[in-house]
Amino acid sequence: MKLDDFLTPDEQQRIVAAIAEAERKTSGEIRVHITPRCEGDPLEQAREVFAQLEMYKTRQRNGILLFLAFESRKFAIVGDEGIDRVVPDDYWDSERDTLVGFLKRGEAARGIEGVINSFGEKLKAHFPIEADDTDELSNEISYAE
Ligand code: CA
Ligand code: CA
Repeated sequence: MKLDDFLTPDEQQRIVAAIAEAERKTSGEIRVHITPRCEGDPLEQAREVFAQLEMYKTRQRNGILLFLAFESRKFAIVGDEGIDRVVPDDYWDSERDTLVGFLKRGEAARGIEGVINSFGEKLKAHFPIEADDTDELSNEISYAE
């Protein structure tokens, strides 16, 4: 499967816009990483990507990574310790399951935008936007080599 069959360029741009929109209300930071394949455990892989992208470099440790291995159909979410501490234990799993439901119906873009919105709401509740907010982590999608 090609990337464009998973998400069209247009849909990829909509996702970047959804991240920017979500981050208007919170100091939290959201990133999406897309790779074709994932061998092994997607959560483990996602944690590696989180570290490679230096997503721990937020002042309040409130970065969230959505990891999508579209060919392998493996998906994972990593929330940094600041946000992980304040969400219910099953929050990340339930968001991932919601997303998988959309993906099974071939609605990848809608599903991804949906979880980004949900992340934004969660982050806003615990980390409201501050006057001196900066974009600590790029809103652009990260693509595997
Ligand atoms: Ca920010
Ligand atoms: Ca950002």
